[in-house]
Amino acid sequence: METVSDIFGKLVFNDKVMSERLPKDVYDALKKTIDMGKSLDRSIADVVANAMKDWAIENGATHYTHWFQPLTGITAEKHDSFISPKSNGTAIMEFSGKELIKGEPDASSFPTGGLRATFEARGYTAWDPTSYAFIKDDTLCIPSVFCSYGGQALDKKTPLLRSMEAIRKQALRILRLFGNEDVKSVTTTVGAEQEYFLVDRELFEKRKDLIFCGRTLFGARPPKGQDLEDHYSGSINPRVKAFMAELDRELWKLGILAKTEHNEVAPAQHELAPIYTNTNIATDHNQLTMETIKKVAMRHGMVCLLHEKPFEGVNGSGKHNNWSFQTDTGVNLLEPGDSPSENAQFLLFFASVIKAVDKYQDLLRLSVASPGNDHRLGAHEAPPAIISIFVGEDLQEVLDSIENSSIPTQKGRQEMKFGVHVLPRFFKDTTDRNRTSPFAFTGNKFEFRMVGSSQSIADPNTVINTIVAEELSNFADILEKSKNFENDVLNLVRQTIIEHKRIIFNGNNYSGEWVAEAKRRGLLNLETTVDAIPCLISEKNIKLFTKHGVLSETELYSRYEILLENYCKVLSIEALTMIDMARKEIIPSVTSYIRQLSETAIAKKQILPGVNWDVEKELVSKLSSLCAELYRNIEFLDGALQKTKKYTDLLECAVFYKDTILKAMRKSRAVADQMELLTGIQHWPFPTFSDLLFSV
Ligand code: ADP
Ligand code: MG
Repeated sequence: METVSDIFGKLVFNDKVMSERLPKDVYDALKKTIDMGKSLDRSIADVVANAMKDWAIENGATHYTHWFQPLTGITAEKHDSFISPKSNGTAIMEFSGKELIKGEPDASSFPTGGLRATFEARGYTAWDPTSYAFIKDDTLCIPSVFCSYGGQALDKKTPLLRSMEAIRKQALRILRLFGNEDVKSVTTTVGAEQEYFLVDRELFEKRKDLIFCGRTLFGARPPKGQDLEDHYSGSINPRVKAFMAELDRELWKLGILAKTEHNEVAPAQHELAPIYTNTNIATDHNQLTMETIKKVAMRHGMVCLLHEKPFEGVNGSGKHNNWSFQTDTGVNLLEPGDSPSENAQFLLFFASVIKAVDKYQDLLRLSVASPGNDHRLGAHEAPPAIISIFVGEDLQEVLDSIENSSIPTQKGRQEMKFGVHVLPRFFKDTTDRNRTSPFAFTGNKFEFRMVGSSQSIADPNTVINTIVAEELSNFADILEKSKNFENDVLNLVRQTIIEHKRIIFNGNNYSGEWVAEAKRRGLLNLETTVDAIPCLISEKNIKLFTKHGVLSETELYSRYEILLENYCKVLSIEALTMIDMARKEIIPSVTSYIRQLSETAIAKKQILPGVNWDVEKELVSKLSSLCAELYRNIEFLDGALQKTKKYTDLLECAVFYKDTILKAMRKSRAVADQMELLTGIQHWPFPTFSDLLFSV
């Protein structure tokens, strides 16, 4: 049996393979691009392409593809074989630098928002050398960005890479001010913990809602849910264990640092945590992880549900986006240091995040908004739709003392050069344990917990990187002119705390009091996706994205349209599926149960005229009324769906979906769920929550 070190990264054209297979000068040039963000010297592309091809063919690949992340939120690929015909009728395996660098998929099959009308339908993909190529399904996959012919980004990776560039630039300005001359680059790091559900494949296939929407549209709560919390980190059953073992191996082959796997709180829910890496690679890895979980689950007769809320009344799934930034010399900039100067630097970076999160609550909220996540945020055990930061007791004390210009009482050292030098060492366990906070400082990183389980992490990280870059840039503007640096750093931190402390909340985010308190503090509460989308094109946010070269105004408008379009489409599919299930499955099944009950009653009376038939009578009566009510609700829903066609304004249409369609769906569901509870098990047309949640 192969050991883990034998298989780890086996299918990745990583640094080790590159150093072995590329001529030294080519390798050095490529490394500069990867580590320092230097632009790539085109002349080396042919050499790299050839080495990649040889390596890929030796490892069983026959095809190659530019692997990219269009605005659908999933990955796309178009396979070409390496085969190239020769004039004598034979063929050779070829792959040129040109093919490595650029591909031309048809952009019109991907969402482009308004860009399609304005620009050519053709788009192109361009090799992103900062993420390693890898082999998947006998195909060499080349991580790429995807743009329109005019150069407008049509994908999620381009703005992410631009945002990494922006924060690199601004963080370096700050580091220089602190006298860090040896640092050449700064990168953001991410570890994305992934939650998901596993259900039995045969049961899954019996539910149209799961097939079409990825979530159940009907379903009464099972008698046993997560009440006993006995699933969390409970022992893993053999079927799931076998699945997880294979999953780990598949991920390791792709160089993904899958580290821990455990059961989550809800029955059938699990989590996978990788070891963090740079944000670009972490984003690719998370996409690959989601794809691999699905694939491996299939092989084990199961289906992985990545939806944020597959079962109403049961915990939803999220993705905890652990974020920090790090220098090329290996220093985590959110790690409180030992010396006064290190602590001042830490506090400044920390303050930049506080200010950024407070000023751009709207963008952070939007970055995790999706129809699926709307069912989760604010529901059972999930962070509410209000953004706030948890800093923990130790750090709060430090912030308070800075704010009040007093000397912290803890572990004081004597010299007061910075006033910030008494920052205590953090021990992780004293910090994070507020699981209710949407944006928690956990000792040396921030954990953004609102991200939805099915989402690409590119959007939230693009936003975090950009808003922090903006505040670092504002700080740098001030400090670069400073005559009394040490004093001014402290003043900036103090001023930031005073102006933005409203965003800090260390209490229970799930409580009703917090909602009221947040309102008093003037914090935003954008409850749904539709409430959040308009902020993408607000003046303030257009200014932010254009200033840092992350997204142009045109790109922002196209994304605004795509988000609205997507919202309407998802809800339309859900509503149609609901209508179909109610009309073709629930109503006919329950009607046949009613007939059986009626026939039983008649038969009983024929045999024994005085016999008691109250049960049949009552059930027939209740179910008949519920059936009629469901029928009417579904008719209403159908009528409402027809009305969506009259909208020409996308935002108005989305508002109608949210206010009218979604409400009608909830009403229909409530009635059907009551019917489920009264209907005999043989007559219910599809598997119930109990069946699904306890099926593996
Ligand atoms: P916790 O106990 O707070 O959950 P863990 O050490 O278990 O912390 O880490 C949780 C996730 O955070 C993991 O995916 C881990 O790799 C990631 N992580 C740890 N340090 C960093 C960092 N500096 N930047 C980004 N992610 C990090
Ligand atoms: Mg966590």
